[in-house]
Amino acid sequence: MNRRQIVAGNWKMNTTIAEGFTLAGQITDAHRSKEVLTILAVPFTHIFALQKKISARSKVLLAAQTCHHKNSGAYTGEISPSMLASMKVPYVVLGHSERREYNHENNNLLALKLRAALDAGLKVIFCCGEGLDIRKAGTHVHHVKVQLVESLFQLEAREMKNIVIAYEPIWAIGTGESASPAQAQEMHAAIRLMLQKKYGKRVAEATSILYGGSVKGNNAKELFNQPDVDGGLVGGASLNGEEFVQIINSF
Ligand code: PEP
Repeated sequence: MNRRQIVAGNWKMNTTIAEGFTLAGQITDAHRSKEVLTILAVPFTHIFALQKKISARSKVLLAAQTCHHKNSGAYTGEISPSMLASMKVPYVVLGHSERREYNHENNNLLALKLRAALDAGLKVIFCCGEGLDIRKAGTHVHHVKVQLVESLFQLEAREMKNIVIAYEPIWAIGTGESASPAQAQEMHAAIRLMLQKKYGKRVAEATSILYGGSVKGNNAKELFNQPDVDGGLVGGASLNGEEFVQIINSF
């Protein structure tokens, strides 16, 4: 298996620039793993300052938390893929459940955003995952399949090398209640099978699938031990430098 192990931190709308600078410093200073790719999805406002802080560390990269589906135009307040690319931001997170819920980003819009982001040369961490009602109804695998088919699977096989998938059950995000390792593995294996059916075994085996939803220092190891879990997308715990480094070192 040659999949990349990745731990991504999603800072959401947290930290001032000074706080972000300190946090990024804690992470880069303590970061020892040569194998694990660490990505920090930071507020747009922090990118420039943090690039200077971490540029020498090739294993720590920055991501934006979203981008628009067009490259320019009358879209007040938005940030375009080409703007991010011009800042040499390597990654963008798309499809986070908070964007889906609060900004009404549906699968069709996310297909447009994926297209625009890849065309601009960005790599994408693409989030999917079901709410509690869907989990309780037992239709979670189907729900995630529809999310992938209507957005991610619009891409060509050759483009999948620029995609990281993050499975994030909404009921586990910010709740302190992580999916169990078995629940995560079940969904990750199902996603990998979907990838295989759509793009073939080579793409399925090469695509990193991260788990997100209350990953903490004390549960990361067990989650990352699952054969189809290639790392984590971490919200709350990524704001604590010490705990985030503990998560990185859980592989
Ligand atoms: C997230 O925001 O992507 C997330 C997984 O948050 P948390 O780790 O806080 O559940």
